[in-house]
Amino acid sequence: MKIEITLKCPDCLGENIVKNGIKSYQVQNYICKNCNRQFIGDHALKYKGCRSGLYHKIELMLVRNVGIRDISEIENVSTSTVLSVLTKSDKTITPKQKYYDIL
Ligand SMILES: [Zn+2]
Repeated sequence: MKIEITLKCPDCLGENIVKNGIKSYQVQNYICKNCNRQFIGDHALKYKGCRSGLYHKIELMLVRNVGIRDISEIENVSTSTVLSVLTKSDKTITPKQKYYDIL
């Protein structure tokens, strides 16, 4: 199976692109011959930003009583990120069963 990905310039959407060395963190760098814009080719494939579903996953783990340090270790984010998700969350937890009338 062969997968082919066509790189396009993020600015001018041109396809006249050549390799332009390797970044210090070992990622291939490209340059657009039309507008001289340098960019990393697979950035759009890796980085999803707010659409990554990370905040939803953190909320689900918080509801399931996973610790803050554990979440930061699992998702490879800082503890302050987990805490900001916790403070910004406006979800309320409703129990599935009502409390017993008589104990
Ligand atoms: Zn360009």
